[in-house]
Amino acid sequence: MTAFPYTHCLFDLDNTLLDFDRSSKEAFGEALESFGMEPDEQMFFQYAEINHRCWKLLEAGEISPREVQRRRFSDFLALHEVEYDPLKLNDLYLDKLAEKVHWIDGAKEVLDALKAQGVSLSLITNGLKRVQRPRLEQSGMMEYFDAVVISEEIGVAKPQPAYFEYTLEKLNNPPVERVLLVGDNPGSDILGGQRMGMATCWYNARQKPLPEGMKPPRYEIKRIRQVLHLPA
Ligand SMILES: [Mg+2]
Repeated sequence: MTAFPYTHCLFDLDNTLLDFDRSSKEAFGEALESFGMEPDEQMFFQYAEINHRCWKLLEAGEISPREVQRRRFSDFLALHEVEYDPLKLNDLYLDKLAEKVHWIDGAKEVLDALKAQGVSLSLITNGLKRVQRPRLEQSGMMEYFDAVVISEEIGVAKPQPAYFEYTLEKLNNPPVERVLLVGDNPGSDILGGQRMGMATCWYNARQKPLPEGMKPPRYEIKRIRQVLHLPA
């Protein structure tokens, strides 16, 4: 392994270090079952699409985290003409989700190797506190990080500059050109890092095209292990 060309590395959590899609699918199915609805594959895709739309609105600063939690299930239930309290279903889902930890293949290895080289590691996530905190504890990954920034806890989300300013401040403001951001989401991770002048690494496992109008990230990788072999 060549020497890592950055002193600081900020990692997104969901679908970068942990397999959120898998956890979410499991938790969603279990939540529906717990109030007697029979989940199928299509339902999860419907929910995932609605959820994605809601998070986009949150990223744009148009709705609150609480509204994301309500709307994603009220829209889903309406689609199936099921009468149930969306916030209660959201609670069922989040309780299940908080129990689920599935690492992305190779992610733990990456943290170990960077840590061994003395790189300062931080975690930057737009998730919810009640879900992320238990998962972070359970995964044993807290010990790796110098800063853990959960958007809900600070009241501002990626890609807003205030989110990254807060993170950098926690790290005693290292020069941004020495900071690498690794994440799977172009709109929140990559854009946020680019705005701050950081180097960005897009973990693009599914080889999606870059959203229109976006400046390419400095690096694009298909496997998270490739983080260990980035050129300067
Ligand atoms: Mg992510």
